[in-house]
Amino acid sequence: MATFVTGRCFCGAVRFQSEKRPVAVRACWCRDCQYLSSGNASINAIFKTEAFEITGEVSEYVSRADSGNVMRRRFCPRCGTPLFSESLSRPNLIVVRVGALDDPEIGRPENFIWTASSPSWGFVDSELPNCDGQPAAIPRH
Ligand SMILES: [Zn+2]
Ligand SMILES: [Zn+2]
Repeated sequence: MATFVTGRCFCGAVRFQSEKRPVAVRACWCRDCQYLSSGNASINAIFKTEAFEITGEVSEYVSRADSGNVMRRRFCPRCGTPLFSESLSRPNLIVVRVGALDDPEIGRPENFIWTASSPSWGFVDSELPNCDGQPAAIPRH
């Protein structure tokens, strides 16, 4: 099967690939993401875990998000690049930070979420369907 998407952390110790396109791409302005994205929204491509593969050692940090979901965030222990996040209640999906994709063009956001947490200078594309908090869940199938 052809590999459609590839990526890595900044130092290259962690690599990943997916045989499928992302099911959604979102820009998230939640407060947690601002910590992970140097003050900006995080840009996230959401993949099905069944077609997704990670190589290399990752560290993780588990916390409860503004949505109430328990999130497992994974990053490179060597260079610190934020790479993945997963909601423990939705193990079929993996969220990938678009900055780690070899081709960031794949990561054009389709909507902005948690816009109510954005600072006044934060960019939100008003041409897109946006959401001031947690969006509706992606269907399981
Ligand atoms: Zn690294
Ligand atoms: Zn967020």
